[in-house]
Amino acid sequence: MNETHDPKLRSWVTSAAPGHDFPIQNLPFGIFRRRASGERFRGGVAIGDEILDLGAAWHRGVFPSDVQDIVECCCAPGLNDFMALGPQAWSALRLALSRTLRAGAREEAELRRCLVLQRNAEMALPARCGDYTDFYASVYHATNVGKLFRPDNPLLPNYAWVPIAYHGRSSSLCPSGYAFRRPIGQTMPPEAASPVVQPTRRLDFELEVAVWIGVGNDIGSRVSLEDAERHIFGLGLLNDWSARDVQAWEYQPLGPFLAKSFATTVSPWIVTLEALEPFRVPWEGPNEGAKPLPYLDAPSLRERAAFDVQLEARLQTETMRAKKSEPVRLARTSFRHTYWTVAQMVAHHTMNGCNLRPGDLFGTGTQSGPTSGELGSLLELTEGGKQPFSLGDGETRTFLEDGDTVVLHAWCEKEGSARIGFGTCEGSVLAAIS
Ligand code: CA
Repeated sequence: MNETHDPKLRSWVTSAAPGHDFPIQNLPFGIFRRRASGERFRGGVAIGDEILDLGAAWHRGVFPSDVQDIVECCCAPGLNDFMALGPQAWSALRLALSRTLRAGAREEAELRRCLVLQRNAEMALPARCGDYTDFYASVYHATNVGKLFRPDNPLLPNYAWVPIAYHGRSSSLCPSGYAFRRPIGQTMPPEAASPVVQPTRRLDFELEVAVWIGVGNDIGSRVSLEDAERHIFGLGLLNDWSARDVQAWEYQPLGPFLAKSFATTVSPWIVTLEALEPFRVPWEGPNEGAKPLPYLDAPSLRERAAFDVQLEARLQTETMRAKKSEPVRLARTSFRHTYWTVAQMVAHHTMNGCNLRPGDLFGTGTQSGPTSGELGSLLELTEGGKQPFSLGDGETRTFLEDGDTVVLHAWCEKEGSARIGFGTCEGSVLAAIS
C-alpha cells in the first residue's frame, strides 16, 4: 500500500467522486478513441466520467521525463508494450497519474485539455491478445456443472490437484457492447438417432474474471508462484458465452471447442493489481483432503493471494428494454471464493515451459459461490434448463433468447478504503446466422 491508495485523496475531475467506479484510487487502463472519429486507438485512464488521453498527455509533455518514456508506450493501439515494462513502470505511472490528477495539482490546466468523456468514446480490446486460456477455478461451478453432466461423479479426482483449463480462441474476443449472432452448431437432441445442425437452443453466459498478463516469460522457462503476480498486469471481467447443447455433444474427450469459440466478451478497463492491493484476502484453498503441491503453495499465498472482488451478472430482455426497466440481477458473488488464485494459474500455466506473452489473457472460469444467489451461469441457475429463472413481470428464462443483453459488473469495497469499480462488460444476442 502507498500514497495512491489513500482513501482521502480527491481528484480535480469532480465526477470521480466517492462511490463512482473510477475514483482517483482506481486508475484503470484501456484503449479508446473518440466515437466515429476515425482516430487511431490509444491508451487512456478512466477517471470519473472521463478518460485521460495518454497520447495527448504525452504530446503535451506533462510528466517528468522518465514517466514520459513510459507514457509513450501507452500511445499504441494496444497496451502490450506498456504491459511488457513490468510492475516498476506500471507503479511509476500510477503514482504520476495519482499526483497530477489530485485536487490542487499544478498540471490540472494542461491535463484538462486531455480529457475525453467516456460517453463520447469507443473502447477497443485493451491489448492485442495472442493467446487466451480459460481456467475452471471455481470448485462450486465445477461441482454444480459436474452434477448435471455426471450425477454420480460430479467432481473428477484431478480437480483438487490441477488447475484445469483449455486453450480458447483469441480471434473472437469482443469488446464490451458487441452484439453477436446466435451460433449454429451440431447437437444430439435427447432420443434422436443422429445429430442435427441448428441454432443453439441452450445459449448461456458465464460470469468470469479476466486476468491480463503483463510481463511474459521465455519459452522453456518457468514462473514460480512467488514471482507469478509480477507477470500479471491486472484484472477485468469476461463473459464466456457458451452453447450448452453443442458443448454436451462435443466436449468429450478433448473439451469445449465450437460451444465456446464464437464469442467471448471482455470489459474495456484493466484494474491493476496495485489498485486491488487493499482488497486482498487469504486464499480459501482446498476445503478437504488435498494439500496443494509445493509449486502451487506458499505461506504468502495463503495470507493474501485472493482478491475480494464483488461480481454481479444482470440480464435485460428486449421487453425490459422496451419498457425502459433496469436489468434484473441473476447472480452476485465474490472472486474470493476461487479455488485457484491468479498466481497459481500463472505458476501452473508455465510449469511445463509454456511461454506467456504481454497481452495474453486468462479467464478464471465461471465464478460461482457457495450459496444459491451466487451461481454464475444459467446452466446452474436453472439446473440445466429444468427450473425457469423468474425475471419478474411474468418473464422467465431457462437459456438466453434473441435480444437479451447480459451485463457483468464488478467492484471492491471495504471499510477504510476507497470503493473502486471495474465498469461493465456487456454483450447482446442477435438472431442466428441464416
Ligand atoms: Ca468458461
